[in-house]
Amino acid sequence: MAQLAHMEQTIAAPLEFSGVGLHSGAPVTMRLLPAPAGSGIVFRRTDLDNFEIAATGRNVAKVSYATSLMRQGVLISTTEHLLSALIGMGIDNAIVELDNLELPILDGSALPYVEAIHRAGIREQRRRREVLRILQPIEVHEGEKFIGVYPGSGYRIEYTIDFPAPIGQQKTCVDLAAEMYGARIAPARTFGYKADESKLRDMGLIRGAGPENAIVLGKNGPENGPLRFPDEYVRHKVLDLVGDLALAGRRLEGHVVAMRAGHAMHTALVARLLKDRSAWELAHVPVAPAAANETEPAAGSGLAHATMAGA
Ligand SMILES: [Zn+2]
Repeated sequence: MAQLAHMEQTIAAPLEFSGVGLHSGAPVTMRLLPAPAGSGIVFRRTDLDNFEIAATGRNVAKVSYATSLMRQGVLISTTEHLLSALIGMGIDNAIVELDNLELPILDGSALPYVEAIHRAGIREQRRRREVLRILQPIEVHEGEKFIGVYPGSGYRIEYTIDFPAPIGQQKTCVDLAAEMYGARIAPARTFGYKADESKLRDMGLIRGAGPENAIVLGKNGPENGPLRFPDEYVRHKVLDLVGDLALAGRRLEGHVVAMRAGHAMHTALVARLLKDRSAWELAHVPVAPAAANETEPAAGSGLAHATMAGA
Protein backbone atom coordinates (compact mmCIF):
# COMPACT_ATOMS: atom_id res chain seq x y z
CA MET A 1 0.00 0.00 0.00
CA ALA A 2 1.11 3.51 -0.69
CA GLN A 3 1.95 5.60 2.34
CA LEU A 4 -0.96 6.93 4.36
CA ALA A 5 -2.63 9.91 2.67
CA HIS A 6 -1.85 13.15 4.51
CA MET A 7 -4.92 15.02 3.30
CA GLU A 8 -8.54 14.11 4.07
CA GLN A 9 -10.39 12.17 1.40
CA THR A 10 -13.93 11.52 0.23
CA ILE A 11 -15.43 9.45 -2.56
CA ALA A 12 -15.30 11.04 -6.00
CA ALA A 13 -18.89 10.08 -6.97
CA PRO A 14 -22.07 8.76 -5.31
CA LEU A 15 -22.46 4.99 -4.86
CA GLU A 16 -25.59 2.91 -4.38
CA PHE A 17 -26.13 -0.51 -2.77
CA SER A 18 -29.30 -2.55 -2.30
CA GLY A 19 -29.90 -5.64 -0.24
CA VAL A 20 -31.28 -6.86 3.05
CA GLY A 21 -30.15 -6.41 6.63
CA LEU A 22 -28.52 -9.53 8.10
CA HIS A 23 -30.36 -9.32 11.39
CA SER A 24 -33.64 -7.58 10.47
CA GLY A 25 -34.07 -9.07 6.99
CA ALA A 26 -35.35 -5.59 6.05
CA PRO A 27 -34.87 -4.53 2.42
CA VAL A 28 -32.71 -1.41 2.19
CA THR A 29 -31.22 0.90 -0.39
CA MET A 30 -28.12 2.76 0.70
CA ARG A 31 -26.38 5.66 -0.99
CA LEU A 32 -22.86 6.87 -0.23
CA LEU A 33 -22.35 10.54 -1.05
CA PRO A 34 -19.23 12.71 -1.05
CA ALA A 35 -19.06 15.02 2.00
CA PRO A 36 -17.08 18.19 2.79
CA ALA A 37 -13.72 18.06 4.61
CA GLY A 38 -14.06 17.87 8.37
CA SER A 39 -17.53 16.32 8.35
CA GLY A 40 -16.59 12.70 9.11
CA ILE A 41 -18.99 9.82 8.41
CA VAL A 42 -22.63 10.75 8.94
CA PHE A 43 -25.57 8.35 8.53
CA ARG A 44 -28.90 9.71 7.33
CA ARG A 45 -32.28 7.95 7.54
CA THR A 46 -34.12 9.11 4.42
CA ASP A 47 -37.27 7.31 5.63
CA LEU A 48 -37.27 9.47 8.78
CA ASP A 49 -36.99 13.03 7.44
CA ASN A 50 -33.25 12.67 6.82
CA PHE A 51 -32.54 12.22 10.53
CA GLU A 52 -28.75 12.19 10.96
CA ILE A 53 -26.55 10.12 13.25
CA ALA A 54 -22.79 10.68 13.25
CA ALA A 55 -20.53 7.63 13.32
CA THR A 56 -19.01 8.28 16.74
CA GLY A 57 -18.67 6.33 19.96
CA ARG A 58 -21.12 8.71 21.67
CA ASN A 59 -23.93 7.23 19.58
CA VAL A 60 -23.21 3.52 20.12
CA ALA A 61 -26.36 1.64 21.08
CA LYS A 62 -26.84 -1.90 22.35
CA VAL A 63 -24.22 -4.19 20.94
CA SER A 64 -24.60 -7.93 20.59
CA TYR A 65 -24.39 -9.57 17.19
CA ALA A 66 -23.69 -6.28 15.43
CA THR A 67 -22.81 -2.69 16.17
CA SER A 68 -25.64 -0.19 16.13
CA LEU A 69 -25.87 3.56 16.50
CA MET A 70 -28.75 5.32 18.17
CA ARG A 71 -29.70 8.94 18.73
CA GLN A 72 -33.00 10.17 20.11
CA GLY A 73 -34.48 6.71 19.71
CA VAL A 74 -33.54 6.39 16.02
CA LEU A 75 -31.46 3.34 15.15
CA ILE A 76 -28.86 2.56 12.48
CA SER A 77 -27.86 -1.07 12.68
CA THR A 78 -24.86 -3.16 11.59
CA THR A 79 -22.51 -0.33 10.71
CA GLU A 80 -19.24 -2.23 11.08
CA HIS A 81 -18.57 -3.59 7.59
CA LEU A 82 -19.11 -0.27 5.81
CA LEU A 83 -17.12 1.70 8.40
CA SER A 84 -14.33 -0.86 8.12
CA ALA A 85 -14.19 -0.38 4.34
CA LEU A 86 -14.16 3.42 4.70
CA ILE A 87 -11.28 3.38 7.22
CA GLY A 88 -9.44 0.71 5.24
CA MET A 89 -9.76 2.69 2.02
CA GLY A 90 -8.84 6.03 3.62
CA ILE A 91 -12.24 7.71 3.26
CA ASP A 92 -12.59 10.35 5.99
CA ASN A 93 -15.80 12.07 4.93
CA ALA A 94 -19.04 10.63 3.54
CA ILE A 95 -22.78 10.83 3.95
CA VAL A 96 -24.47 7.43 4.16
CA GLU A 97 -28.15 7.60 3.26
CA LEU A 98 -30.38 4.64 3.99
CA ASP A 99 -34.13 4.11 3.77
CA ASN A 100 -34.39 1.53 6.53
CA LEU A 101 -32.81 0.74 9.89
CA GLU A 102 -30.06 -1.72 8.91
CA LEU A 103 -27.23 -1.59 6.38
CA PRO A 104 -27.32 -4.22 3.62
CA ILE A 105 -25.23 -7.30 4.37
CA LEU A 106 -24.33 -7.81 0.67
CA ASP A 107 -21.96 -10.82 0.52
CA GLY A 108 -21.11 -10.69 4.24
CA SER A 109 -17.74 -8.99 3.69
CA ALA A 110 -16.49 -5.47 2.92
CA LEU A 111 -15.35 -6.36 -0.58
CA PRO A 112 -18.40 -4.93 -2.44
CA TYR A 113 -17.72 -1.56 -0.76
CA VAL A 114 -14.03 -1.65 -1.59
CA GLU A 115 -14.71 -2.51 -5.24
CA ALA A 116 -17.33 0.23 -5.54
CA ILE A 117 -15.00 2.83 -3.98
CA HIS A 118 -12.30 1.78 -6.46
CA ARG A 119 -14.77 2.29 -9.31
CA ALA A 120 -15.98 5.68 -8.04
CA GLY A 121 -12.50 6.93 -7.21
CA ILE A 122 -11.18 8.81 -4.20
CA ARG A 123 -10.95 12.61 -4.03
CA GLU A 124 -8.34 14.42 -1.96
CA GLN A 125 -9.65 17.35 0.07
CA ARG A 126 -8.11 20.60 1.30
CA ARG A 127 -7.64 19.69 4.92
CA ARG A 128 -4.78 17.93 6.69
CA ARG A 129 -5.78 14.51 7.91
CA GLU A 130 -5.50 13.69 11.60
CA VAL A 131 -5.02 10.28 13.15
CA LEU A 132 -5.81 9.30 16.73
CA ARG A 133 -2.31 8.60 18.03
CA ILE A 134 -2.21 6.33 21.06
CA LEU A 135 0.04 7.70 23.83
CA GLN A 136 -0.75 5.32 26.70
CA PRO A 137 -2.02 1.74 26.85
CA ILE A 138 -5.69 1.13 27.45
CA GLU A 139 -6.91 -2.38 28.21
CA VAL A 140 -10.32 -3.92 28.71
CA HIS A 141 -10.66 -7.38 30.34
CA GLU A 142 -13.80 -9.41 30.66
CA GLY A 143 -13.34 -13.01 31.73
CA GLU A 144 -11.32 -14.70 28.97
CA LYS A 145 -11.91 -11.80 26.61
CA PHE A 146 -9.32 -9.11 26.19
CA ILE A 147 -8.65 -6.05 24.08
CA GLY A 148 -5.89 -3.49 24.44
CA VAL A 149 -4.38 -0.64 22.47
CA TYR A 150 -0.76 0.50 22.73
CA PRO A 151 1.45 3.25 21.33
CA GLY A 152 3.22 2.32 18.11
CA SER A 153 3.73 3.45 14.55
CA GLY A 154 1.26 2.44 11.87
CA TYR A 155 -2.05 0.72 12.61
CA ARG A 156 -1.28 -2.85 13.62
CA ILE A 157 -3.84 -5.38 14.74
CA GLU A 158 -3.11 -8.72 16.38
CA TYR A 159 -6.25 -10.83 16.77
CA THR A 160 -6.70 -14.27 18.33
CA ILE A 161 -9.98 -16.18 18.23
CA ASP A 162 -10.92 -19.46 19.88
CA PHE A 163 -14.23 -20.83 18.64
CA PRO A 164 -15.78 -24.29 18.86
CA ALA A 165 -14.89 -26.78 16.10
CA PRO A 166 -14.47 -26.64 13.20
CA ILE A 167 -12.86 -23.18 13.59
CA GLY A 168 -10.75 -23.68 16.71
CA GLN A 169 -7.96 -21.22 17.38
CA GLN A 170 -6.75 -18.77 14.75
CA LYS A 171 -4.42 -15.82 15.07
CA THR A 172 -3.40 -13.13 12.64
CA CYS A 173 -1.32 -9.98 12.72
CA VAL A 174 -1.93 -7.28 10.14
CA ASP A 175 -0.35 -3.89 9.64
CA LEU A 176 -3.00 -1.85 7.89
CA ALA A 177 -0.44 0.79 6.95
CA ALA A 178 1.82 -1.64 5.17
CA GLU A 179 -0.51 -4.30 3.83
CA MET A 180 -3.44 -4.16 1.50
CA TYR A 181 -6.69 -3.87 3.43
CA GLY A 182 -8.61 -4.48 0.23
CA ALA A 183 -6.76 -7.69 -0.57
CA ARG A 184 -6.26 -9.26 2.86
CA ILE A 185 -9.12 -8.14 5.10
CA ALA A 186 -12.05 -6.79 3.09
CA PRO A 187 -12.96 -10.10 1.35
CA ALA A 188 -13.31 -12.05 4.63
CA ARG A 189 -16.99 -12.94 5.23
CA THR A 190 -19.04 -13.18 8.39
CA PHE A 191 -19.84 -16.68 9.62
CA GLY A 192 -22.29 -18.66 11.70
CA TYR A 193 -22.82 -22.20 12.97
CA LYS A 194 -25.49 -24.35 11.36
CA ALA A 195 -26.24 -25.75 14.83
CA ASP A 196 -27.23 -22.27 16.11
CA GLU A 197 -29.28 -21.34 13.06
CA SER A 198 -32.82 -22.33 14.07
CA LYS A 199 -32.43 -20.88 17.56
CA LEU A 200 -31.16 -17.53 16.23
CA ARG A 201 -33.85 -17.50 13.54
CA ASP A 202 -36.56 -18.12 16.15
CA MET A 203 -35.17 -15.24 18.18
CA GLY A 204 -35.43 -13.01 15.10
CA LEU A 205 -31.70 -12.29 15.10
CA ILE A 206 -30.75 -13.51 11.61
CA ARG A 207 -33.81 -12.88 9.46
CA GLY A 208 -31.66 -11.86 6.47
CA ALA A 209 -28.96 -14.54 6.79
CA GLY A 210 -28.31 -17.10 4.09
CA PRO A 211 -25.50 -18.99 2.38
CA GLU A 212 -25.06 -16.03 -0.02
CA ASN A 213 -24.01 -13.68 2.79
CA ALA A 214 -22.37 -15.80 5.50
CA ILE A 215 -20.12 -18.82 5.81
CA VAL A 216 -22.38 -21.56 7.14
CA LEU A 217 -20.40 -23.89 9.41
CA GLY A 218 -21.36 -27.52 9.70
CA LYS A 219 -19.60 -30.12 11.87
CA ASN A 220 -16.82 -30.66 9.34
CA GLY A 221 -16.36 -27.18 7.97
CA PRO A 222 -18.04 -24.65 5.69
CA GLU A 223 -21.14 -26.00 3.92
CA ASN A 224 -21.30 -23.35 1.23
CA GLY A 225 -18.22 -23.54 -0.89
CA PRO A 226 -14.52 -22.90 -0.39
CA LEU A 227 -13.18 -20.30 2.01
CA ARG A 228 -11.59 -17.17 0.56
CA PHE A 229 -8.66 -17.62 2.98
CA PRO A 230 -7.77 -20.57 5.26
CA ASP A 231 -8.01 -18.13 8.18
CA GLU A 232 -11.04 -16.21 6.87
CA TYR A 233 -12.73 -16.26 10.30
CA VAL A 234 -10.04 -14.34 12.15
CA ARG A 235 -9.62 -12.00 9.19
CA HIS A 236 -13.32 -11.19 9.45
CA LYS A 237 -12.85 -10.38 13.13
CA VAL A 238 -10.13 -7.90 12.11
CA LEU A 239 -12.57 -6.43 9.57
CA ASP A 240 -15.19 -5.98 12.31
CA LEU A 241 -12.61 -4.51 14.70
CA VAL A 242 -11.48 -1.88 12.18
CA GLY A 243 -15.13 -0.94 11.61
CA ASP A 244 -15.92 -0.72 15.32
CA LEU A 245 -12.78 1.28 16.17
CA ALA A 246 -13.76 3.71 13.40
CA LEU A 247 -16.25 4.99 15.98
CA ALA A 248 -13.31 6.65 17.73
CA GLY A 249 -13.74 9.20 14.94
CA ARG A 250 -10.31 8.86 13.33
CA ARG A 251 -8.06 6.14 12.06
CA LEU A 252 -5.89 4.90 14.93
CA GLU A 253 -2.12 5.13 15.06
CA GLY A 254 -1.09 2.39 17.42
CA HIS A 255 -1.16 -1.34 18.02
CA VAL A 256 -4.30 -3.23 18.94
CA VAL A 257 -4.28 -6.66 20.58
CA ALA A 258 -7.57 -8.58 20.80
CA MET A 259 -8.30 -12.06 22.14
CA ARG A 260 -11.74 -13.72 21.92
CA ALA A 261 -13.21 -10.24 21.60
CA GLY A 262 -16.33 -9.11 19.75
CA HIS A 263 -18.43 -6.04 19.09
CA ALA A 264 -19.10 -5.41 22.80
CA MET A 265 -15.37 -5.48 23.64
CA HIS A 266 -14.45 -3.42 20.56
CA THR A 267 -16.92 -0.67 21.41
CA ALA A 268 -16.01 -0.82 25.12
CA LEU A 269 -12.47 0.07 24.05
CA VAL A 270 -13.79 3.00 22.01
CA ALA A 271 -15.75 4.24 25.04
CA ARG A 272 -12.65 3.99 27.25
CA LEU A 273 -10.57 5.82 24.65
CA LEU A 274 -13.04 8.67 24.30
CA LYS A 275 -13.24 9.01 28.08
CA ASP A 276 -9.48 8.97 28.71
CA ARG A 277 -8.34 12.09 26.90
CA SER A 278 -4.73 11.70 28.18
CA ALA A 279 -4.30 8.34 26.40
CA TRP A 280 -4.18 9.82 22.89
CA GLU A 281 -3.72 12.91 20.80
CA LEU A 282 -4.92 13.97 17.39
CA ALA A 283 -1.87 14.24 15.14
CA HIS A 284 -1.44 15.29 11.54
CA VAL A 285 -0.26 12.59 9.17
CA PRO A 286 3.23 13.69 8.11
CA VAL A 287 3.62 14.65 4.46
CA ALA A 288 6.48 12.19 3.91
CA PRO A 289 6.23 9.70 6.77
CA ALA A 290 7.90 6.63 5.29
CA ALA A 291 11.51 7.33 6.30
CA ALA A 292 10.60 8.85 9.66
CA ASN A 293 8.47 5.88 10.68
CA GLU A 294 11.15 3.40 9.74
CA THR A 295 13.74 4.92 12.07
CA GLU A 296 11.35 5.45 14.96
CA PRO A 297 11.92 3.00 17.83
CA ALA A 298 9.02 0.55 18.05
CA ALA A 299 7.98 1.82 21.45
CA GLY A 300 4.65 0.09 21.35
CA SER A 301 5.64 -3.43 20.41
CA GLY A 302 7.71 -4.28 23.47
CA LEU A 303 5.10 -2.76 25.71
CA ALA A 304 2.31 -4.70 24.04
CA HIS A 305 4.07 -8.00 24.54
CA ALA A 306 5.04 -7.27 28.12
CA THR A 307 1.45 -6.46 28.90
CA MET A 308 0.10 -9.41 27.01
CA ALA A 309 2.17 -11.81 29.08
CA GLY A 310 0.18 -10.71 32.08
CA ALA A 311 -3.17 -10.76 30.30
ZN1 LIG B 1 -18.86 -8.74 10.71
